[in-house]
Amino acid sequence: MKLRLHDLRGRSEGVQVHEQVALGDLGSRDRSLVALEAVDAELTACESSGVYRVEGTLTTRATYRCSRCLREFREPLVASFAEAFVRESAGAKGERDDEEGPIPVSGDEIDLAPYIEQTVVLALPWRPLCDPECAGLCPDCGTNLNEDSCGCRDGALDPRWEKLGELWNRMSGSPGGNG
Ligand SMILES: [Zn+2]
Ligand SMILES: [Zn+2]
Repeated sequence: MKLRLHDLRGRSEGVQVHEQVALGDLGSRDRSLVALEAVDAELTACESSGVYRVEGTLTTRATYRCSRCLREFREPLVASFAEAFVRESAGAKGERDDEEGPIPVSGDEIDLAPYIEQTVVLALPWRPLCDPECAGLCPDCGTNLNEDSCGCRDGALDPRWEKLGELWNRMSGSPGGNG
C-alpha cells in the first residue's frame, strides 16, 4: 500500500485511501495467531507544515488458538491507525528525533504496509480466549472442561469460589465498617 506524498500537497482536506492489505505470515511470530484475513485499511492522509499525517481504521478478522482450551476461534480485529511522516532532511538521515515524532522518509512514496503490520501486531491480544469464562483443559487428563467434565478434581473447590467465600465471611463477620 503506497502513499504518494506528491498527491497530498496543497490538499488541506486530505486524501482518502481505502485498500485491502494482505500482511505476511504473522503466525510465526505469535503462536496463538492461526490466520489473519487481509486488512481493510480506511485511511485519511493529509499534509500540514511538511508533516504528513495518516490516520484511520484497520479492520480484519483473525483466527486465534484459545490460550486455555486450544480451540480455534475467529474474531474481528479493529485497530486505529495513526502515523506521521516527514521528508528526510540531509542532516537527519533515517533518524527519528524522538519516539513520538514523525518518521523520516526518503523519496516521494511511503509504503504503509510495514506500519499497518506493526499496528495490527500491537493490537493482537496477548492471551486470546475463546470466551472470557473459558474453563480450559483439565491439567490432569486434558479433557476440555467447556464440553465435558472429568472426575479428576472432584471434591476440590474452585479457587475462585474459595476467594468469594472468604470475602463473604469477612463481610458478614465485620461489625459494619467505619463509614
Ligand atoms: Zn477456550
Ligand atoms: Zn481430568
